[in-house]
Order: sequence, then C-alpha cells, then structure tokens
Amino acid sequence: MSAPTFDDLIRTAARALAGAGIEDARQNAMLLMLAAFGDTRAALISSGPSPVPQGVQDAFGAALARRLAREPLQHILGHTGFYGLEILTDARALIPRPDSEVVVEQALALLPADRPAQLADLGTGSGCLLAAILSRRPLATGTGIEASPAAASLARENFGQLGLTARARVFEGRWSGWTGWGEVDLLISNPPYIPSRDIDTLEPEVRRFDPMDALDGGADGLDAYREIIGLGRTRLKPGVPLVFEIGHDQRASVQALLAAAGYSELGHRPDLGGNDRCVWGLAPDPSH
Ligand code: GLN
Repeated sequence: MSAPTFDDLIRTAARALAGAGIEDARQNAMLLMLAAFGDTRAALISSGPSPVPQGVQDAFGAALARRLAREPLQHILGHTGFYGLEILTDARALIPRPDSEVVVEQALALLPADRPAQLADLGTGSGCLLAAILSRRPLATGTGIEASPAAASLARENFGQLGLTARARVFEGRWSGWTGWGEVDLLISNPPYIPSRDIDTLEPEVRRFDPMDALDGGADGLDAYREIIGLGRTRLKPGVPLVFEIGHDQRASVQALLAAAGYSELGHRPDLGGNDRCVWGLAPDPSH
C-alpha cells in the first residue's frame, strides 16, 4: 500500500478528533500536522497530495493520540499566542487565554508609557500577563509572584525567551511572603477563581491538564480575591491600582470585597466575548 498523503492524514485525523468531541477538529488536525511537518503552512498546503514521510507520520500519530486523549493543543505544540507574544505552554502552568488579554488592556490604560513603573503579578503562572504588559511598557519592571516551583520555572523561561530577563523577576513563594508590595505602582492578578464544586463541569482539557492550584478558588471561588484584597489593603501604597481577572459572574462579588476593604474608583470591563472579565480598584489609605 502506498503511503498516505498529507491531505489523507489531515482528513482522517479531523474526523477522529470531531468524533472525540473536539471543537475546531480540522484546525487542530492541521496545526498538529504542521508541527510534525516542521515547515510553513504554505509548504504544507502545497504538499497536500504528496506522500507523508514515515518520520512525519510517526510524529503526527503520537501528537494526535495525545490530542484524542484531550490533552490541550497548546501543551502538545508547546506554545501559544498571547497579546502578540509567543508564550511557552505546558503542564506547569495555566494556558494563556484570549479572555485574559483584557487584563493587559486595562493595565496598559492605567500605566503611562513615558515613565518608569514597578508592577507585580500575583500567581504569574506562565508569566503571560506580566510579559505582555512589559512588552508594551519598555520603562517598566515587574515581579511575578508564584508559589508553584514548576510554574515559576516556566515563567522564567518565558521571560528569558522574550528578552525580558532584565525587567521581569520571579519571586518563588506565597503572596503573603513577598515583601515588595509597598514598592509597586500597579498590581495585577488572574488568581484561581473557579468554585470548587464547579471544577467537575469544566472541559477535560482544563480539568485534567491545567494545574488545579491555578483553577480552584475555594468554596465560592473568591478565596484568592479575599486574600489579595486583604494583603493589598495594608501593604500597597494608597492609590495603587489592583487589577483582577474574574469569572464571568463575579463582578458584583469581587467589587463588593474591594469596596468593603476601602478600595476606591472601582471599574470593570468585558472580555472580547462580552463577559465581565476584569475589575479594578485603587488601594485605600489604611490610616483613614
Ligand atoms: N478562565 C479559566 C477557565 O475558566 C480559569 C482561570 C482561573 O481560575 N483563573 O478555564
């Protein structure tokens, strides 16, 4: 039997992926083949009717098996796009989501481009939020605070490969153990915010492959917000913006926590899908 063509393998794989309940099956099949092929999309398309070399068949077969087991495409490919940057992705940290880009937008709106600033990102994970902001604010520096050693190592790799090592540090430890709160001019966080009882309802790609510590926000999903808002109340300089990513139904509850702790000028904005995704407030003066 002659070797299958690229078109054959992509078509068969797309059918198998769709049958496994995976959305965008054709696009997934194409991207997995592109990675196995190791050349440009244009070259792959023009190779469509050609037989697939055995080495490419093997690599594609292995990648397809992983995707059929619902491993996220981003883990298999090892990278994903976020705010125009190429971010390394694997099981060490939450995969960057397009929804989170609104947090970057809001942080940039609060950060003048023409002066230095110090940022902190609580639970930085892959480092995507901090990297995206720093890439647009060349005078700014930042610290990603990360309790997971695995995630911290991924953040360091990302800052390194993006040329940000001189401006982006990683503090490996808990938020409460970080002593830099009083120096920052802007604090951001995409903390774990899924209520524990909802974890089972998430897609397998999320539930089985994103680190649980990056998802589980406790009984009502708000544990991390309470901790950060409480720490920020006494440790941030008064007036420093605290910008959060939130779950689509958490605007009122997170804003209520901010208001109760004395934060002012609360705001919010939706993600590209129209869901509430970002809230912020300015740190209070705890002596008042
Ligand atoms: N947005 C992620 C999801 O719903 C959750 C991320 C988080 O908890 N910070 O899959």
